Amino acid sequence: MTALDAPEILDYDDVLAKYDPVLGMEVHVELGTNTKMFCGCPTAFGAEPNTQVCPVCLGLPGALPVVNQAAVESAVRIGLALNCSITPWGRFARKNYFYPDQPKNYQISQYDEPIAHDGFLDVQLDDGTTWRVDIERAHMEEDTGKSLHVGGATGRIHGASHSLLDYNRAGVPLVEIVTKPITGAGERAPEVARAYVTALRDLLRALEVSDVRMDQGSLRCDANVSLMRKEATEFGTRTETKNVNSLKSVEVAVRYEMRRQGAVLEAGGEIVQETRHFQEADGTTSPGRRKETAEDYRYFPEPDLEPVAPDAEWVEELRATLPELPWLRRGRIQEQWGVSDEVMRDVVNAGALELILATVEAGAPADAARSWWVAYLSQQANTRGVELAELPITPAQVAEVVALVAARTLTNSNARKAVDGVLAGEGGVAAVVEARELATATDDGAVAQAVAEVVAANPDIVAKIKDGKTKAAGALVGQVMKATKGKADPARVNELVLEACAG
Ligand code: ADP
Ligand code: MG
Ligand code: ZN
Repeated sequence: MTALDAPEILDYDDVLAKYDPVLGMEVHVELGTNTKMFCGCPTAFGAEPNTQVCPVCLGLPGALPVVNQAAVESAVRIGLALNCSITPWGRFARKNYFYPDQPKNYQISQYDEPIAHDGFLDVQLDDGTTWRVDIERAHMEEDTGKSLHVGGATGRIHGASHSLLDYNRAGVPLVEIVTKPITGAGERAPEVARAYVTALRDLLRALEVSDVRMDQGSLRCDANVSLMRKEATEFGTRTETKNVNSLKSVEVAVRYEMRRQGAVLEAGGEIVQETRHFQEADGTTSPGRRKETAEDYRYFPEPDLEPVAPDAEWVEELRATLPELPWLRRGRIQEQWGVSDEVMRDVVNAGALELILATVEAGAPADAARSWWVAYLSQQANTRGVELAELPITPAQVAEVVALVAARTLTNSNARKAVDGVLAGEGGVAAVVEARELATATDDGAVAQAVAEVVAANPDIVAKIKDGKTKAAGALVGQVMKATKGKADPARVNELVLEACAG
């Protein structure tokens, strides 16, 4: 078989029969600090291009960087949460390369003295078991600007007529977290990769160091994949698939790369060490640039910045601020709710956990809160193609709807209409209920029955009322209110009692 008629991808099982995959994950997280890594420019996402820039982040001559203390604090907390050792004295390094979206012609990063090194993260697999991923390092660096390639079909530079540059992102603080090679995962390699990024995202979110939005690029994942023959003693050549922008894509990209590399190797070819681009549309990867080596970057210690030297006491103070680990917290909440693993997984997968907790906080019972977010509201988010948390309804509003249903003011179907109204921007719950006339008319039937029973059981009081002592009706009204659990309108009950006595 020549390379030409070789299949482009190999059957997954055929890959696994002969090869063991090796993975390495590089995750960049944009820190949620107010200002950039080395200057005071704001970091807010989505501003007009080139409105959040200054001489430092534009790399103008003579501008001097200053380290953002809040970013160092976040980086140390990330390192601690990943069970890393914190480097007591470490310098920044210049990583030299030209790229149009990087105005200084070098990136300030960390090289051989990263802020954190040698840790691990335990990640949860789908079957409930835990997989330990060893962490090599977490280091601080600055983000690049953004290039917009215009005039081509794909938005890529290839085929574009010109490019636009936005430096708002240039200098935004990043922490890059790099794993040690992940071996031995076999057929579960794609799942381990996804589970790792999921666990890391949840951890970073719990640390409140970033909004970890893969779709907005505040969490970006590069997946290194290689195959080694089962009998081999050395790793194979890896490729690095860049910017895989959703959790599902991490799994798809790793699986595809395993199958593609398997096909190349089976056809007698060699894997080229290169970066590759993931194509969201068909789940394939395509070649990018040949991979540079560290030497190409001519790293040297950054002369314009003081070394970062977090003292031990401060590190311990930060350790004390670490949150409960997300999966332990989830386990605790699951126990409180008394729900199955499957139900809990649905909640987490829907991105509903925090929303449900906030809804409970606002007064709703957990099961009602859960059912709203996981069922109806998830459907609404799906149809609109947004994250659950982006729906224009708050947990407090959901709790309000739940309360109205419990009070029988809203039927279940009217409750959905009330939610629809809020989602459509018609106002708050009360306003929508009013405008759409959704409230149930007082349930006269049930109240009337309670009145009849109370009247029948109290002939002496009824006699007084018939004698014109209408004030005596108060005692009967009280009993009816009790019987209807306070959900009836007392004035209306009074009328019904008087009517019953007159009849
Ligand atoms: P680079 O700067 O070239 O991207 P990094 O050290 O930042 O290199 O990241 C490389 C990642 O790939 C690490 O997670 C590392 O553990 C992993 N890795 C190294 N060698 C291999 C290999 N042969 N196959 C798969 N992953 C690898
Ligand atoms: Mg890298
Ligand atoms: Zn700036």
